[in-house]
Amino acid sequence: MSDSELVCRKFKGNVGAPGVIVGLAYCIDRAKLRVTMRLVLPELVLLEKSRVHDAIEKSRAQLEAALGRDLQEDHRLILEAHLAWLADEYMIQEVLRHIETDRINAEWAVKKLFDGLKATLAGESERTRIERTQLFDEVAQRLIRNLMGVQDESLDGVPPGVVIVSHNISPGDMAHIDRERVVGLATDLGGPTSHSSILARGMELPTVVGLEHITSHVKTGDVLILDAQDGLVFVHPSLELIDEYQEKIRKRAARTAELLEMKDLPCVTADGVAVGLQVNIDLPEEMRLATNVGIRDIGLFRTEFIFLAKGGPASEDEQYEIYSRLLREVGRDHYATIRTLDMGYDKVLPELNQPGESNPAMGLRAIRFCLQREDIFKDQLRAMLRASVHGNLRIMVPMISCLSELRRAKGILEEVRQELELEGREFSDDVRLGIMIEVPSAVIIADILAAEVDFFSIGTNDLIQYTMAIDRENENVAYLYSPIHQAILRMIKQTVDAAREARIEVSMCGEMAGDLQLTMLLIGLGVDNLSMSPAATLKVKDLVRRIDMGEARALAGRVLGMKTRREIIALVKDTMHTRFPVEFRDHSWTI
Ligand code: PEP
Ligand code: MG
Repeated sequence: MSDSELVCRKFKGNVGAPGVIVGLAYCIDRAKLRVTMRLVLPELVLLEKSRVHDAIEKSRAQLEAALGRDLQEDHRLILEAHLAWLADEYMIQEVLRHIETDRINAEWAVKKLFDGLKATLAGESERTRIERTQLFDEVAQRLIRNLMGVQDESLDGVPPGVVIVSHNISPGDMAHIDRERVVGLATDLGGPTSHSSILARGMELPTVVGLEHITSHVKTGDVLILDAQDGLVFVHPSLELIDEYQEKIRKRAARTAELLEMKDLPCVTADGVAVGLQVNIDLPEEMRLATNVGIRDIGLFRTEFIFLAKGGPASEDEQYEIYSRLLREVGRDHYATIRTLDMGYDKVLPELNQPGESNPAMGLRAIRFCLQREDIFKDQLRAMLRASVHGNLRIMVPMISCLSELRRAKGILEEVRQELELEGREFSDDVRLGIMIEVPSAVIIADILAAEVDFFSIGTNDLIQYTMAIDRENENVAYLYSPIHQAILRMIKQTVDAAREARIEVSMCGEMAGDLQLTMLLIGLGVDNLSMSPAATLKVKDLVRRIDMGEARALAGRVLGMKTRREIIALVKDTMHTRFPVEFRDHSWTI
């Protein structure tokens, strides 16, 4: 079939990391590696064993070479986890034992060992199973590839301008992606919150995940349009479609350039009221994205990803290094809000011995976990306090649901301060302590809590889940996940009122804060700071600068007086269409 006869096919997935690009496919097929079992003659057992040692050495050398490059911290941690496995005496001895006792070839022995390890994950949460399976697969595949003499399908040497197409892509693979050459990523598996999507966002690599079977329809060299705005991939697009997308890309670039001109302008309303703009980051490397858009204050740094990327608890010193680097990068005129561990629910690590729970969203999560594992909590607080000499630190505690929990957390923080003092370690005496307001009980007692902290940050992702009694990961009840339900709006208002009364700051760091559709409503409700992904900040700032605080308060007042969601939606839509006709002209409403 000639190129002109190729039929354009469209695939629908989910946005892993935003962007739109046209490029050539570069397929990687990890599944190509077929391992077979061979029986080994007794006199060849020794030789088979020495092949294992050689493969381990080769694998180590490859990983060390990769670690020698300029890598993101989380990538480094992943590769270090692989290296640790290759040095694991148990792993080595078990492979050698399988060869000896079963008289099987080295490749099969490696496969047998790692298959066995994967089988032990059956009782773990889905997330842990996925992550651990990925780690075991990667270590096993590397060893087997080296045993078979199969060239590593290295992502280092890919030609420029390619879109990597793969069934799945692991965080380990992500470490090998050369951002200068790879322009996009499309995978059969994965979701927007999967680890590799998070890493792709940090690399600003347009990514569409969950395309189901795109790998069966693409071969290396095929022209692709990757629309990581609407979660689409077009294979063999027509010239007209390419032209249409080139125009979209030009418009996006022009809009970004236009917005970037505002990067140094203050975020104040048209009538001069300052609205704080902060960023949420999951990995320290994402700070670069924040700086690019002129934002330095971090409203939420989720520390769990340090543990998840490493596949286990990070030590006090490892955490100290990361927090110090972050604080130095943020600079003394700004601040970093570092959240204490929010493990549990969808973030589970076998190394932390978290219990398997039938209802983990309601279980041993966040501060509840930290209060049970004081050792881990203290290590983290020590690391944070020690790092505080490098900048302005705010410590934020997630999932507080009652005063006693807050007081216990404060007590432990105080103990840690005293310990550090006794050890003669330096730390700042100006570290603010705040809590996330994300459990309905915390809203109801917000006045009581406000008296004991320096700031609040409203976590709407969880506040909506817990208020509406819906698991935020469950698509069957997703229709109830609404930020403009009257219950949620009243909770925001109540939290703001309690903060005002106690004269403390109130921020919002849930996804709702970066939702352009709600910017006017939120500032009208009196939220002081909005914290969101770096990519969303300029658009929000653009609106804030054109909004009058008077009109925002009037909108919030009217909305709070309404009874139904339908009325609220109609008013918000009408207001935003009237005030920002260009921005909301082709807008697909999602409230
Ligand atoms: C939230 O719940 O809104 C929040 C920001 O925290 P996370 O999404 O990490 O639970
Ligand atoms: Mg939360």
